Amino acid sequence: MSDIEQLVARATAEFSGIGDAALLEQAKARYLGKSGSVTELLKGLGKLDPAARKDAGAAINSAKERIESALNARREALRHAALEAQLKAEALDITLPGRGLPTGGLHPVTRTLERIEALFRAIGFDVADGPEIEDDFHNFTALNTPENHPARSMHDTFYLENAPGLLLRTHTSPIQVRYMETHKPPIRIIAPGRVYRVDSDATHSPMFHQVEGLWIDEEVSFADLKGVFTDFLRNFFEKPDLRTRFRPSFFPFTEPSAEIDMSCVFCDGNGCRVCSQTGWLEIAGSGMVHPNVLRHVGIDSEKYIGFAFGMGPDRLTMLRYGVNDLRLFFDGDLRFLQQFK
Ligand SMILES: [Zn+2]
Repeated sequence: MSDIEQLVARATAEFSGIGDAALLEQAKARYLGKSGSVTELLKGLGKLDPAARKDAGAAINSAKERIESALNARREALRHAALEAQLKAEALDITLPGRGLPTGGLHPVTRTLERIEALFRAIGFDVADGPEIEDDFHNFTALNTPENHPARSMHDTFYLENAPGLLLRTHTSPIQVRYMETHKPPIRIIAPGRVYRVDSDATHSPMFHQVEGLWIDEEVSFADLKGVFTDFLRNFFEKPDLRTRFRPSFFPFTEPSAEIDMSCVFCDGNGCRVCSQTGWLEIAGSGMVHPNVLRHVGIDSEKYIGFAFGMGPDRLTMLRYGVNDLRLFFDGDLRFLQQFK
């Protein structure tokens, strides 16, 4: 083999043994650089006579081309290998199971409110809404509770600073007042929502929920109140044998007024710790709407009559799910809330 062919073989072998792009460029310089082996051969051509020069020149050029070709092939191989390595390093393991997003659920009190709304809608009641910041008239005066009435001190109320006459509503009754101001009888609504009183312990929270009901028409009686409310409780607690009793009471906005008790849902009226061995649980306030309330909203109290009731969905939720501390509903502790998903 000629020296030139040996040079080509040596260069090709050397290139293929190099695994690093920078080292490959150094090797290239040794053959094709300014003082590389091939360049030196070309420089030597001048010393040959013209006839020999032509053949030698052709052989050297051929060798140069083959060396360049080997170099380019190796460059391409190294570039390819580098890309492979990079892809492998950055690869995603698509066989890893996903973490997923935890699903939320409705708050237990929200569940109760939706259940109450569904049960009353089923017997023809609309659901009414109103503002949580109320004025004195809608929260007290229109409900037959004038300024000097002792009932105003029964609610220790959150009044708004720098806004005379405005307060956080102490009950959902103002919703009924606003509804009666804008609708003519017959009126059949429930009014659910948040209410506020200065009160905080295991069974009281400064913010809690109320649902009030109102039915105004030409012939609505106390018997209708008993029937509607007893039926509601039986459906809500899924206890067809649940019993109710109505005890005389006082509210400024109803006359006559009654507290509603129901037979204990834990012991079916036999007496247990929850009902203090009485067999009964207090569940709502109620009564026939006071004629003064109807007059305040422009409804003819000679022609129309109706009943109203109010209950605490928070308490209904506690009884339905067996929760013993009201504050658990508003602490936001996921360990508690996740049990209702
Ligand atoms: Zn009981």
